[in-house]
Order: sequence, then C-alpha cells, then structure tokens
Amino acid sequence: PDNISSDFIRNIVDEDLESQKYDGRVVTRFPPEPNGYLHIGHAKSICLNFGVASEYSGGVCHLRFDDTNPLREDIEYINSIQEDVRWLGFDWGSNLFYASDYFEALYGYAEQLILDGKAYVDSLTADEIREYRGTLTESGKESPYRNRSVEESLDLFRRMRDGEFEDGAHVLRAKIDMTSPNLNMRDPTLYRIRRATHHRTGDKWCIYPMYDYAHALSDSIEKITHSLCTLEFEDHRPLYDWTLEELDVYRSQQVEFARLNITNTIMSKRRLLQLVEGGYVSGWDDPRMPTISGLRRRGYTPEAIRTFCDHIGISKRDTVVNMALLEHCIREDLNRHAPRVMAVLNPLKVIIENYPEGQVQEFEAVNNPEDPGMGTRNVPFSREIYIERDDFREDPPSRFFRLAPGREVRLRYACYITCQEVVKDPDTGEITELRCTYDPESVGGSTPDGRRVRGTLHWVSAPHSLQAQVRLYDYLLVDPESRERRGQQRFYLSSEPGFPTSYCRLSGGAQPCPSHARQQIPIRATGVLLRGLQGFKPRYPSIQPYCLP
Ligand code: ATP
Ligand code: MG
Ligand code: MG
Repeated sequence: PDNISSDFIRNIVDEDLESQKYDGRVVTRFPPEPNGYLHIGHAKSICLNFGVASEYSGGVCHLRFDDTNPLREDIEYINSIQEDVRWLGFDWGSNLFYASDYFEALYGYAEQLILDGKAYVDSLTADEIREYRGTLTESGKESPYRNRSVEESLDLFRRMRDGEFEDGAHVLRAKIDMTSPNLNMRDPTLYRIRRATHHRTGDKWCIYPMYDYAHALSDSIEKITHSLCTLEFEDHRPLYDWTLEELDVYRSQQVEFARLNITNTIMSKRRLLQLVEGGYVSGWDDPRMPTISGLRRRGYTPEAIRTFCDHIGISKRDTVVNMALLEHCIREDLNRHAPRVMAVLNPLKVIIENYPEGQVQEFEAVNNPEDPGMGTRNVPFSREIYIERDDFREDPPSRFFRLAPGREVRLRYACYITCQEVVKDPDTGEITELRCTYDPESVGGSTPDGRRVRGTLHWVSAPHSLQAQVRLYDYLLVDPESRERRGQQRFYLSSEPGFPTSYCRLSGGAQPCPSHARQQIPIRATGVLLRGLQGFKPRYPSIQPYCLP
C-alpha cells in the first residue's frame, strides 16, 4: 500500500512480495519472554510487527511467548503481556503460541544435528567453555570432546534428557567453527541441563534449549517470514541462518532494527524488575515506570503510544529519544479528547468585595476548545474564589502579566478583577488572601471601553469547589542520560512523587480531570549514586499504593 510511511523493513517486505520469496505471505511475530511486564520499547516492536502484518493483505502477526528459560518466567507475566498487547489495540486472533510447545520438536531437531555430525555433547565445565571460546582478538580452541562419536553424543544427550546428570555436567553444542571471528559461531551451546520447574511443562524437562536455537526454530515452525528483532541480535543472525539451513527447514528471515531508548528512564526488564523487587517503585505499574501498565496508570492512552511509535519510526541506528516526545504525544491526544475543568493546585483565596454576598452566578465554559462537539458546562462564580498562588506576585517582575497589587486581570469565562489589597498573616508574613473588586461590565470577557488586560487566570468558586487529590509524577530517573549501558550503570532515581499529597480544588460539578496527574513536579530528590542499584536507599522509604480516579 502507498498510504503508509515506509521504512527499510517495509521496503524489504515489499521486495520479498514482489519476488515471491515467501509465496506472497507476510507473517511476523511479537515474541516476548514472559519474565517481566512489557515496556514502551516493546510497544515499538508490537506496533512494528502487528503494524506490518496489518498493512499487507493476508498478513498475520503471531503472539509467541518465548518461554524457554524456566528460571525467570511466570504466569503473571503471561497474563499481563496479553492484557497490554490488547490494550495497545492489537489482536493476535487465534495465533497465540508458546515456544515451550515446541520442546519436543526442538529436541528432535537436536538429535538430527547430532546424527548429521553437526552437534556434539561437550563435558567441559562452564568456565572451561568460556575459556576455550577465546576473545575477539584471540581465536577459540576446540574442546577435547568435540570429536566424540555420533553414537556417544547421542547416548549422552538422551541421558541428559532422562535426568542422569547433574546440572552443568554436559551441554549440547553446535559444531561450527572455533576460529570464527563471530564469537556466536564458536560452537554455541544449544542445550543445557537445568533442573527447574517450567510454568507450563512442569518437571517434564530437565534440559532446556538456548535462546538462539529455540528462537530460530520457533520462527521456522510457525513459518514466520520476517523475524523482526533488535540490533543486538545482528551478530546472532549467522547462527539463526546456520540452524535453519543445516536442518533444512523453513527459512525465516531475521531483520534487525534499532531498539528504543528514552531519556530519564531505563528500558530493560531486568533492571525494572530490580526496582520492583527492591521496593523502589510501587510495582510494575508505578506511574513513573516506562511499562505499558505504568503509562496506562499515569493516564496515557493507547492512541498516544501508537502515535509515538509512528513518530519515532524504524531505523538501523541506535538513538535516545527525548521523553518530551512521548509527553507531546499524550498532550496532543488529551488536548483533542479530554474534557477540561479548571483546577487550582495551590490555592490563594480572593474575596471580591463589590460582589454581593450570597449571590451565585454561572458562566458557560467550553469543555474542549479543540472540539466544540464536547459542549459546554456551567461554572459557578461567587464572592469568594481561589486562584493559583503562583498567579499572584506582590512584586511582579517585568513580563509577569498575571495578578499583582493594583493590576487588573481576566478570570477565565467570567469577568475582570483588580487587586486592591494584600492580606497577610501577621506572624508569618504569608499572604493569606487578596481583596479584589470586579467590573460588572466585564462579564462576558470584555468591557465597553475595550480596555486591554493581559493576563487570564483560571479559578474556582470557593464554596462550590471540590477537594481532589492530585498526584504529580516525576520521571523515573533524574538524570536524562542515565540509561542502561553495557558494563557500568549509574542511576539516580527521582523521588517518590506526590508525597506529601497536594490537594487541589476543582470547580463545582466537574469530575477531577485525570490530566492533572500528568504534570511534572520540579522536586527531584537525588538518590544516592548507585551502581547496579547496590546500596541504594530510597529517599521516601514508605511506599504507598496510588490509584488514579
Ligand atoms: P529487555 O531488554 O527489556 O529485557 P528483551 O528484548 O529481553 O527486553 P523480550 O521479551 O525478549 O525482551 O522482547 C520481546 C520483543 O520486544 C523482542 O523482539 C525485542 O527485540 C523487542 N524489544 C525489547 N525491547 C525493545 C526496545 N527497547 N525497543 C524495541 N524493541 C524492543
Ligand atoms: Mg529477550
Ligand atoms: Mg533482556
């Protein structure tokens, strides 16, 4: 189709369709490992995989749980992942798969590799295997077990499966090339012994396939045409291809794209799990988390996340996207769809002295300036109102156009007021109240003399106002550049947000607007510098659950 913005992946799919490489089929998959909750990086992959499939007639995208590592996986994650993919607006239909359903098939392929002399059971220890592998600058060394006979390897492999050996006693390795410049090709491990209960297969297996082997074959079994993955797997592609070629099975094609990184947050399930387990956040859905569930709780909409994924596009180069872009996407979406109310977060009382006591007047306010279809509401006005404390300055700097002594401003939807007197607490000197007058002729937003006022303030009528609890969330990390780097990690966590709780007043009749929860507070409590999160002491140790209305 011509109407979609193209990228190099869609170009590849176009070419493959043209050349009939896959008989005109387009089958993608989103393959999460169920070892954590999905984050916004996964959303990029979900939008890409489901997006590409939906753009071609007959295109299909599978949801496959890459559940081949029993140690870290859990049914809780299986459920949350499905919920999040659905919430994002994608549907896998009947194409839900589990790599663990292929354990028997994967085992069979492994025996075939042994029989073909392309895999062998190695009995070196893990340390020895690492040592024999060599380094980027130093060639690897062949294991003394590499030339075991087919019969011996097959016998050992079967006994591995039957549970005759301790964990780590043997592994199955591909017989490729110990001198390959690509470390992944130096006889990679295909199977290891691991006595762990799998969340689906229980204790049926005590050997489990390694990621690269299992992933390539899972793609092939499902006849995936384009296996889209992130760049760090580029070096694994030769092994992916080797596996499918040597076994002469369906040739899925791996294509890599750049993973998403965003400032002020981290994008690794492992790291996020540490935050959850350490109690640094209230859970996977803490509103500061970059998880789909955290973003949802913070008030993000699926549309905003999909728009964001469209905006960032697909490329071959790793970049860090500014958090401001994600926020821009939700702001745009809410601008169009969220009903507005006026709210005062830090109230300052204003008495309008020439407004009759007890009189209440209603002004019509639009519910959404960008969408007249959302109608209007009536906002009560009275002698006592609250304005935002920040909207008043006793000693206004130049270019401050809001309220100040002797100055006139417009109250949104209502009238003009002029500040006549500032009332202070005699002990603390804190401003407790403003005494103002209004111009009855200004009702409706202008006066017959056409005089100009520069500031327009939001406000709420004090007797009609509702109390609301407002949570102002910060970013997850204080330092915009903190993000996962290979090797050393340093994070500064933002403070627990919104504590102590701030209250705001909303104008009568309105529901608290969830968009308030999205403002950022400037408080950035800097945590202790941490390395790999060791020794981090949260500034606010008591973490209470929050929920949005
Ligand atoms: P993490 O590093 O957060 O643990 P992962 O790659 O190990 O992520 P998987 O569950 O294996 O997590 O990921 C499922 C799919 O999502 C993979 O195809 C992976 O490439 C993709 N994906 C994960 N993180 C990102 C990201 N930051 N940007 C784009 N795609 C991602
Ligand atoms: Mg992974
Ligand atoms: Mg990972």
